[in-house]
Amino acid sequence: MDPFSKFYEKTYEERIKLLKDYAKLSDDEIALLAKETNLSIKTAECLSENIIGTFSMPLGIATHFVINGKNYILPMVIEEPSVVAAASNAAKLSEGFLASADDSIMFGQIQIVGVKDIKKTISEIKKNQKNLINKANSKDSVLVSLGGGVKDVKIRKISTDRGEHIIVNLIVDVKDAMGANAVNSFCESLKEDLEKISGGKVRARIISNLCVARLAKAKAVWLKEKIGEETIEAILDAYHFAKKDQFRCTTHNKGIMNGIDALAIATGQDFRAIEASAHSYAAFKRKYSPLTKYYKDNAGNLIGEIEIPLAVGVVGGAVRTNPLAKLCLKIANISSAKELAMSMACVGLANNFAALKALSTEGIQKGHMRLHAKNIAITAGASEDLVDKVAEIMVKENNICVARAKEIISELK
Ligand code: NAD
Repeated sequence: MDPFSKFYEKTYEERIKLLKDYAKLSDDEIALLAKETNLSIKTAECLSENIIGTFSMPLGIATHFVINGKNYILPMVIEEPSVVAAASNAAKLSEGFLASADDSIMFGQIQIVGVKDIKKTISEIKKNQKNLINKANSKDSVLVSLGGGVKDVKIRKISTDRGEHIIVNLIVDVKDAMGANAVNSFCESLKEDLEKISGGKVRARIISNLCVARLAKAKAVWLKEKIGEETIEAILDAYHFAKKDQFRCTTHNKGIMNGIDALAIATGQDFRAIEASAHSYAAFKRKYSPLTKYYKDNAGNLIGEIEIPLAVGVVGGAVRTNPLAKLCLKIANISSAKELAMSMACVGLANNFAALKALSTEGIQKGHMRLHAKNIAITAGASEDLVDKVAEIMVKENNICVARAKEIISELK
């Protein structure tokens, strides 16, 4: 019999006991699993399923961000060295950021199949539009009372390999939420009505993560007196490489997401949704392109800009449930979804600037490997008391690798 059958019905203690036998875990390993840090097992069980523990990641803050004239420190959860340092350094080198964010407009999609008269049905749905909006909005009085809810309906026909389908798009203002649950509920609430009107079958009813009406934009200037003309030329060359080449561009956009994901995780966001929409937007009605752009102003300073869809919230999802996410929003002093989106756009731009600067001038590895040295030392088996020493020697020798770390460990022992 499968030992994990009905695992979800077991208590936490039963799950751990089963796992201990199955994976032959020691008492120390069990203690590590059961260690509650900032998230209790009870809360974790409210957020996800089959819980066996919680998982910690490094939490740091990016400093020196001035956005629309306000100072920010931005919490970042990331396991990769140098991302937080790079964001902070790029912000410090800049003259601050100007940012803006659209209203929180998301799209819900309802698919209707098996419709006999597509044209007539589309016109019937249009006729009933007001009723449909009212019906959906009756499902979320809280959101509607805040000025949100379904605002409009757009209908189109698509031709698929399985025939013609009608797609009903709900245009929803989700205010300070990320909005997926809200939008999905609106979509689901119209199933019966749409089947009655169309005579067809409603299949998929789900949010679209491609939130092109929910863009965040940011812009920054890096003065030529501060970063040097040669650096500006190098960054522009690297940017134009990304514009022309999808292999480079993928990594260019990954560098943007380094910062955005880190702030997203720290503040309890759905980072998979953010990733999906960012990369989809990078190829929206164009070939896959950089989410940032760079050019020189008349004085020869470097201007960097970012435009990215960001579905983020300061309510809903895990934001208020994970106490650390709530705390991170407090540390950042961010109180609205728009402000969070603007901050994320700025971090993304900062990380991208830093990456372009490093990889096109001194090389990305120099600073990165210095910060990565401790990690390499741990990988090579350095005990806690030796980590700093081993890393220091490797940095001094400019030879940061596991093989050298192993040698140093045995020398020090
Ligand atoms: P939610 O349902 O937890 O919270 C949103 C609700 O909070 C609103 O509907 C409203 O009733 C209430 N609310 C209170 N104050 C509000 C305010 N100021 N502004 C807006 N709403 C306010 O969460 P959600 O944001 O609708 O959905 C986010 C969750 O959905 C995330 O956990 C995400 O992972 C998950 N999810 C994502 C997808 C996807 O991205 N494809 C699909 C399904 C679920």
